[in-house]
Amino acid sequence: MRKLAATYIFPGDRPPVKNGLLVCEDDGTIIDLLEREDNWKEEASVEYYSGVMVPGFVNAHCHLELSHLHKKLEAHTGIGAFIGQINQHRKAEPDVVLKAMQLADRLMWAAGIAAVGDISNSNASIPVKQKSKIYYHTFAETFGFHPSRAERAFELAVQVRDECIKSGLPANIVPHSPYSVSEPLFRKIQNEAAKAKSILSIHNQESKAEEQFFKDGTGPIAGHFQHNIGLDLSHWQAGKRNSLDATLEFLPTENTLLLVHNTFTGGDDLKLLQTQRSVDNTFLVLCPGSNLFIENTLPPVQLFRKFNMNICLGTDSLASNSALSVVKEMITLHQYFPEVGLEELVSWACFKGAKALNIAEKFGSFEPGKKPGVNLLTGVQLKNLRLTEHTKVKRLL
Ligand SMILES: [Zn+2]
Repeated sequence: MRKLAATYIFPGDRPPVKNGLLVCEDDGTIIDLLEREDNWKEEASVEYYSGVMVPGFVNAHCHLELSHLHKKLEAHTGIGAFIGQINQHRKAEPDVVLKAMQLADRLMWAAGIAAVGDISNSNASIPVKQKSKIYYHTFAETFGFHPSRAERAFELAVQVRDECIKSGLPANIVPHSPYSVSEPLFRKIQNEAAKAKSILSIHNQESKAEEQFFKDGTGPIAGHFQHNIGLDLSHWQAGKRNSLDATLEFLPTENTLLLVHNTFTGGDDLKLLQTQRSVDNTFLVLCPGSNLFIENTLPPVQLFRKFNMNICLGTDSLASNSALSVVKEMITLHQYFPEVGLEELVSWACFKGAKALNIAEKFGSFEPGKKPGVNLLTGVQLKNLRLTEHTKVKRLL
């Protein structure tokens, strides 16, 4: 048994406990979370830490298989050029790709990440995930702009999903984005999702370019399709609905939905979302590090809070981020949105992410019987409970 005491313990799903004491089994299973009384006497069996103790983090959006692209791409290019750069640099020696994933997985574990929602377009990451101490839920992602690609694209995603499941890794099929999936491909994903009752994830309103492509069929996304991959756009019917509106009909309301990025999501989109879906099974995944890298902008976090949306956090890939660290994303958010308190940030980083990946019975909060992992945050301003640029995470369990 281990007894861990800290200046503050944030349980992930409720207010912090000052001078808290966390009692766990040696394997990390939570037994109890107690408050130390004023007359508490130091005990030899208790480990004392100055700082803030939080559960293991949930990284709700990652692309492990792009880890070899770390520091390879140019920043602030916008989404059209970013996708072009990914296509250009993605191919690499399998050994290089594997080593980069292994390193990224180890660093995520060391950075206190306990569970990951990972987008995969291939089976490359399976051996890494099988050996990892991290829990991975794989989103076998499919895309194909032209309707003629639907059959083949869907088959490939089925293969990736089936290989994951055969390897003992939870997985299901998801669409890449509103602009990269044709209607026949969306229909296949929709049918499969309804059958499997799976967790859906989609990149949503990540760029102004997405809005433009749906509005009039022009802009950087049209440019990428035509000039980088030579696609025929003649079937594309722009001007009807915006990207979220056009996509929601393919995402069954019974399925949990992770909308990733939402950098250009506005009040009308949130109203639409709330008329069509329950807030309970809809999650906005924020990836601020990646948004700053690609578009040099951030999503309207105040608006999401005003609409009481469920928020969780993701790192996106090393192609568009300097590290796969949830605490780094929290520091960025605290810096740009100082009105968000630490308790709320921790709930996004832990509990809400666990709900989104449907693993809250084990991860995301300090509840008896769960095994969420235990992290210590140091370099936190304890007087006003604010993260600083010096905030670091140390995994205790
Ligand atoms: Zn992504």
